[in-house]
Amino acid sequence: MLDTIDDMSAYPIYLDYNATTPCDPRVVEVMMPFFTQHFGNAASKSHAHGWFAEEAVEYAREQIASLIGADAQEIVFTSGATEAINLAIRGVAEKNAHKGKHIITVATEHKAVLDVCEYLADQGYEITVLPVDKQGIIDLDQLRSSIRKDTLLIAAMYANNETGVIHPIAKISEIAKEHDVLFFCDATQAVGKKPVKVKHEGIDLMAFTAHKMYGPKGVGVLYVKKQTPKIEIAPLLYGGGHERKLRSGTLNVTGIVGMGKAAEICNTALDQEAQTLYRLNNLLWEGIRSLEGVSWNGKREQSLSNVSNILFAVPGADRLLKLLTKTISVSSGSACSSAIASPSHVLKAMGLTDEEAYSSIRFSIGRFTTEEEINKTIDAIKLSYSKLNSII
Ligand code: PLP
Repeated sequence: MLDTIDDMSAYPIYLDYNATTPCDPRVVEVMMPFFTQHFGNAASKSHAHGWFAEEAVEYAREQIASLIGADAQEIVFTSGATEAINLAIRGVAEKNAHKGKHIITVATEHKAVLDVCEYLADQGYEITVLPVDKQGIIDLDQLRSSIRKDTLLIAAMYANNETGVIHPIAKISEIAKEHDVLFFCDATQAVGKKPVKVKHEGIDLMAFTAHKMYGPKGVGVLYVKKQTPKIEIAPLLYGGGHERKLRSGTLNVTGIVGMGKAAEICNTALDQEAQTLYRLNNLLWEGIRSLEGVSWNGKREQSLSNVSNILFAVPGADRLLKLLTKTISVSSGSACSSAIASPSHVLKAMGLTDEEAYSSIRFSIGRFTTEEEINKTIDAIKLSYSKLNSII
């Protein structure tokens, strides 16, 4: 595979930006000197190499904090969103077990959240998993009535990775505050795509990652709100306590510098980019919506502007993804679970049958998507559709 694809022109059109984004060349440019010239360890306090690395990390911390309306000291660097999610949920649960052992989450969360909750359930915690309606929306009254005296945390994502559906974050945080419960938000798919401001939206803990916002893979952030008394979190790793004792391990300075630059670019480009993405996403939808059996999964008016999760309800549609792979890189769900041959838990939670879930495709576009690519995608879908008809 690696031998055959050695230049970009051999690649299909990339419409899987929710799985990962390419690094922006401006991000790569600022990272490069940190591999060779500025290779110091940010924890080396006795020489210039260390000081320079530390300064670069602190600059990136400011850039990232500014994107989400936080203070720099509230940013904890991790290896990605999965680690940040584990640190938030498991860390809060374990450190506060004396106060209660109940956590509320949602059926459409990413596996990184659901699997941690499953682990905690094995450890004796009680997990309430809220259902969603057909459009992927939670019932806020049901959330309110699920809160108990021993509830520690509500874990609800900002925007769904498969459908793009956005939760009413400010309302969820309001309910959490009313009951003195912490609110953790997995904002991996929202940060960099829409304005996310932690203070304004009342978020206590928030996870996100560089590789969904045109930064490198292997670096992410847990935002931890500064407050008195402070939010108590047990670390996952011990060994130096580099990040405010919450996360140990030599910092990935190069990745962090890249994430900082990626955040800075998103901060300035976000509004304009969201409009372009909306236009292109709409172009795709208008191009295929009249095809037989086509419908939108989720609530379109309450969604990220870069995602279309489409159900192709015609016989044999489960073969569509395969037919399209030569022309477009798309997926049937999240990258983390699409390798497993099981229907999407997100679509199932929204009431789709196994067959409908297998007949759904997620198209996610991004900064480098062009109108020409969208038009080619529409043509490829139409062509594959006609082939489906002839196979049957
Ligand atoms: N949460 C959501 C909503 C995601 O889409 C992803 C990545 O697919 C993750 C968490 C995990 O992120 P990372 O790859 O940085 O661990």
